[in-house]
Amino acid sequence: MNIEIPKDHPRAKSLRTREKLIQGLESRVVAQAGLIAHGRGEAFDYLLGERTVPAALNAIKAASALLLSAENPVISVNGNAAMLTPEAIVELAETVNAKVEVNLFYRDTSREEAIKNILKRAGAKSIYGIDSEHLASLSELGSERRKVDTKGILIADVVLVPLEDGDRTEALVKMGKKVIAIDLNPLSRTSQKASITIVDNIERAMPLLVKKVNAFRSMRRQELEEIQQDFSNAENLKRCLKMILERLTKLAIQGECLGFRETEDNEN
Ligand code: ATP
Repeated sequence: MNIEIPKDHPRAKSLRTREKLIQGLESRVVAQAGLIAHGRGEAFDYLLGERTVPAALNAIKAASALLLSAENPVISVNGNAAMLTPEAIVELAETVNAKVEVNLFYRDTSREEAIKNILKRAGAKSIYGIDSEHLASLSELGSERRKVDTKGILIADVVLVPLEDGDRTEALVKMGKKVIAIDLNPLSRTSQKASITIVDNIERAMPLLVKKVNAFRSMRRQELEEIQQDFSNAENLKRCLKMILERLTKLAIQGECLGFRETEDNEN
């Protein structure tokens, strides 16, 4: 930690996360643009009330069912995700038997190595997306993110993409893959294009996803399929936007900080 954050600071948690990302920048795990992307996420987190909203729980439920039904799931990891939730990524991968693949917009060997090390320290056994002999290119994309592992994302049926960009999400969906995104911005192209979008902070969402997958582990395939069929990403995103709208309207009218009054019966 570069600076000491007082425990009683009202935004201590958020400051600790920022410090973690700055450390990640220094160790080459996080790209400079990763700090900017995080700032965009933080702004949306404010609008959501910095907590996991019912629509996010609903998406986590559908995502858990999809991951458990997948033949060949892959978790696609970028620098921010590796820095913020390495343990949860590894735990989720082990629970649903998913591969962990590194995917970087700003790709170079030292970054790949730094990310590999952080995932290894968290317990990852194999890491895909790094060995150049096994990399193919998605023709739809121009950036370094077009590279996918021929034993990983290229043959995956379900890809979890925390903190993805819209173009790549769209390309993966066009290839017939089901894409689960974690993105605080319900308006991003990623959120709009993914099959299931968890509109939540990755630091809150990943542990919840691990918990839900464990809870669903012994569920029958039929039940898992029903959960997926009951989910509509478009409807769920509308719910997020409606929640933000209602919350802001109440705040604007009543001028007070409101908690969540929405009660749900189907998200757990
Ligand atoms: P798109 O290409 O999908 O329209 P974008 O241009 O905003 O989106 P990026 O620049 O890759 O895409 O931004 C990353 C996204 O990750 C942003 O939408 C931001 O809201 C989201 N994000 C950043 N930090 C977090 C976090 N900690 N948890 C969840 N989402 C986050």
